[in-house]
Amino acid sequence: MNRLLIAAVISIIVASNSFAQTQVIAHRGFHSTGNSYNNTISALKNAQQLGIYGSEFDVHETRDGSLIVIHGLRHLSIPNVQDEDFATIRNLPLSNGEIVPTLDEYLEQGKQSATTRLIIEIKSHSTAEQETRVVKKVLAAVEKHELSSLVEYIAFSKHVCNELVKYSPEGTKIAYLSGDLTPEQCKEAGFTGIDYSIEVTKNNPQWIKQSHELGLTVNVWTVNDTENLQWCIDHGVDFITTDNPTEAILLLEK
Ligand code: MG
Repeated sequence: MNRLLIAAVISIIVASNSFAQTQVIAHRGFHSTGNSYNNTISALKNAQQLGIYGSEFDVHETRDGSLIVIHGLRHLSIPNVQDEDFATIRNLPLSNGEIVPTLDEYLEQGKQSATTRLIIEIKSHSTAEQETRVVKKVLAAVEKHELSSLVEYIAFSKHVCNELVKYSPEGTKIAYLSGDLTPEQCKEAGFTGIDYSIEVTKNNPQWIKQSHELGLTVNVWTVNDTENLQWCIDHGVDFITTDNPTEAILLLEK
């Protein structure tokens, strides 16, 4: 083999290995440590300190149009944060004493790391019009903070993903969460990855290879136990979304 050919083979091996290296995303931030709580600023800080690939969080719009970072519709005595005013939600601190952050506050903290990517889950809202409005507002906030290159998007709503394809800058990463589309259908829709549950992924392991052949990334949620973390690593998924990022790191270092 001549030198050029050897160099080409080495670069292909390096490229394929870097594609195959599984990366860790903290699910709702790294909250399973200290006095943290999911989707808080401290959970994002903890993920940034771990130096992992990304920190995921959930965005809802309140009744009066604020974008807040919180997981479920319920917040303490409030049954549905999307039907409540921002001030009322904000007046009810989380169990660790932190307040529910706004998207702006979260993005401000996001800037403190140049490497930990912000994986924004735009939650489903009650109408398509509202989802379109939320997509546009989230994209505008990310642009205002000059974070477009550090942000990726995920959603269960096909409409949210479609609107992200339509309105986001070229090259934006958009992965679909619901698990009911094949990799071909996701590719066709313009999404850049699948982000399916561990159950869906294990039921359709062929989707990992098919996604990679289509140039799509594969993310799996929410993988917390050793056996499933190892399964994901062994099957070459690109990203593991986990509440247990430290164990995922230890397994990857083995
Ligand atoms: Mg989420």
